[in-house]
Amino acid sequence: MGASAQQNGNGTATGGQTSSVLVSGASFAGLATAWWMNNLGYSVTVVEIARGVRRGGTPVNIRDGVIDVVKRMNLLERIISASLPPRPVTFLDAHGTPLSPAPGQAEEESEEEYEIERDVLLDMLFNEVKDNVEFLFVDGILELEESAEDVAVTFTSGRKQSFSLVFGCDGTHSAVRRLCFGEECSFLVFLQNYFSLTIVNKLLIEQKRITREQFTGEGWRTRELLDEMSCCDDLYLDKLCQPGGIVEQGPSGSGRSCRPGRRP
Ligand SMILES: Cc1cc2nc3c(=O)[nH]c(=O)nc-3n(C[C@H](O)[C@H](O)[C@H](O)COP(=O)(O)OP(=O)(O)OC[C@H]3O[C@@H](n4cnc5c(N)ncnc54)[C@H](O)[C@@H]3O)c2cc1C
Repeated sequence: MGASAQQNGNGTATGGQTSSVLVSGASFAGLATAWWMNNLGYSVTVVEIARGVRRGGTPVNIRDGVIDVVKRMNLLERIISASLPPRPVTFLDAHGTPLSPAPGQAEEESEEEYEIERDVLLDMLFNEVKDNVEFLFVDGILELEESAEDVAVTFTSGRKQSFSLVFGCDGTHSAVRRLCFGEECSFLVFLQNYFSLTIVNKLLIEQKRITREQFTGEGWRTRELLDEMSCCDDLYLDKLCQPGGIVEQGPSGSGRSCRPGRRP
């Protein structure tokens, strides 16, 4: 969304003062836009509905035009050193038979491609801008009023501020797009499918299996507890041991290292 015709392309209005821009959303698009606008000399504010940069998700792929973008941001080397080893992705049908070609793989393979954990890339981008960009977390845009000079923004927190430009980087269900252009049903084509992604924690599955095996059939409320355990995403499983105290460990070692504990 643009509002001012008097920009000279380096973030300075014709009057000489720095122009301010607002970016809605602090994910890949938002943080990258903040980086570029800041480097072009604009004073940048990012508003994000969540409490912080939203973490989680499966790794992302850097390929095609994005390679050039991250190269120009001097991030390519860091992305390469943090990238994951190449892993094949296999789509299976209902019988577990690999689909060939897999959905999306019919397209031409990218020659250069790096896979990186979503959080690692987010941290990289956030650290690049955090000292030069203002972040408004737990806030969002309530109203936008565009004039020839600027865009008057009312935030959900009640704050009001005007910006030269507003960027909607707030995802597929963008609030900025809805406020500027109308309801999302006019812009999104629903492909009649839903998708869901999760990361399978093999260790957790194994720990739950062992615990269930050991406690199944025990009395009291064990069954109830095992049912609760099957939904949890965090489990502590270890041998039951009594750590030896400093005295029991004797004088072995350098004399400067110890393992605090209590006497049995
Ligand atoms: C937590 C999370 C996990 C994801 N996991 C996966 C995954 O595992 N696999 C996959 O393929 N894709 C995943 N995605 C989607 C993928 O990251 C994006 O579709 C893609 O990277 C495009 O990035 P984006 O910056 O355009 O939008 P997004 O990554 O969707 O980010 C949009 C940002 O805008 C913020 N926002 C939304 N509404 C508002 C508002 N009204 N005001 C202010 N801020 C707002 C969101 O909190 C979010 O930080 C995930 C997205 C998120 C947010």
